[in-house]
Amino acid sequence: MTGPTGDVVERATVGFTDQYDAPAAGLWAAPGRVNLIGEHTDYNDGFVLPFALPMRTVVAADRRDDERWTVWSELSGETIDFDADDVAEPGRVTGWGAYVAGVVWALRDAGHAVPGARLAIASDVPLGSGLSSSAALESAVLAALLDLAGLELPAERLPRLAQRAENVYVGAPTGIMDQSAVIRCRVGHALFLDCRDESVEHIPFDLDAAGLTVLVIDSRAPHRHADGEYAARRRSCEAAAEALGVPALRDVTVDQLDAALARLDDTETRRRVRHVVTEDQRVLDTVALLRAGRVRDIGPLLTASHVSMRDDFEITVPEIDTAVEAALSAGALGARMTGGGFGGCVLALVESDRADAVSDAVRAAYAERNYTAPTTVPVLPAPGATRLR
Ligand code: ADP
Ligand code: MG
Repeated sequence: MTGPTGDVVERATVGFTDQYDAPAAGLWAAPGRVNLIGEHTDYNDGFVLPFALPMRTVVAADRRDDERWTVWSELSGETIDFDADDVAEPGRVTGWGAYVAGVVWALRDAGHAVPGARLAIASDVPLGSGLSSSAALESAVLAALLDLAGLELPAERLPRLAQRAENVYVGAPTGIMDQSAVIRCRVGHALFLDCRDESVEHIPFDLDAAGLTVLVIDSRAPHRHADGEYAARRRSCEAAAEALGVPALRDVTVDQLDAALARLDDTETRRRVRHVVTEDQRVLDTVALLRAGRVRDIGPLLTASHVSMRDDFEITVPEIDTAVEAALSAGALGARMTGGGFGGCVLALVESDRADAVSDAVRAAYAERNYTAPTTVPVLPAPGATRLR
């Protein structure tokens, strides 16, 4: 999961100077994120528990005197340019530039004056792996533009702005988790987010002090029918909530689960409901263990979450299951797919001194099956979006 050589901060800094022949006025960064536990609970008004990754997107920027925005990204080596007309309504800037134009649009749409700017972007968040390079990009750009505009908005309002850039301007439907995590996470903590009222709590998740690490394994599995399957799961959950007479599946507790399942006649729907209801409880149990400082003990909850996604929600694929099984066989304390499913990443909780052995075991299991080699990277919970200088 490494990008071009050189530190990402330096690449953004040098990129800016090369492009614009002047030093940047400042540097802002926003991380990728991974969800520790709580999958497909967000749109059921439930709980998620993401943490920020050490991989991040860095934006070097300064103000312009006119209403134009010039953006260079190391990713394509391309420079794009847009003006006030282009951000008057969604859809005018397309491609990767839409994520940047979307932020300008969202700020202006919320009534804020946004000065023109020049930006240079470098990132070591892998794209399209489910680690939220899109939210990292939006959030780093948002942090930069707010500071350049001299705007101070309360932190709890920022995720919605970044989300609107992606939902409305880019046109990609996502929940509030990605931007909340990327903007609000703290180092050494996971973010306990209640997707119903968007309240957050910072939960100590000090892996380093416990001698642990989380291994993020990019399955490299092609995303098969992910959009259609996601929509189908969502419909199934919404229909079940309606049949049960609750606003969302969040309103069914594990104690009420058996009675709720007895009222549903379709076996597939019953499995879907069981996943969501038990997954919400696993998030709550994980939070309770972490609050008690029992980091190692969350392993079985992670693995139970995987089994539930595999057997009840049916959103895993062979590459993902292989990675989870190999990690567990090699001594991981727990392992699960993270993200929407049908590809993406697996995370494994491992003793730090077992990280290499677990990586090797996953790689070997992949080689045996002729799957594209996975990438693995050990991570610790990193800070959310911030100004670097
Ligand atoms: P994910 O968020 O899981 O990485 P998405 O499909 O949501 O995947 O977002 C990936 C898209 O975000 C890329 O295709 C690109 O358009 C845009 N993007 C993310 N990071 C950058 C970057 N550093 N430079 C340019 N575009 C980026
Ligand atoms: Mg994304």
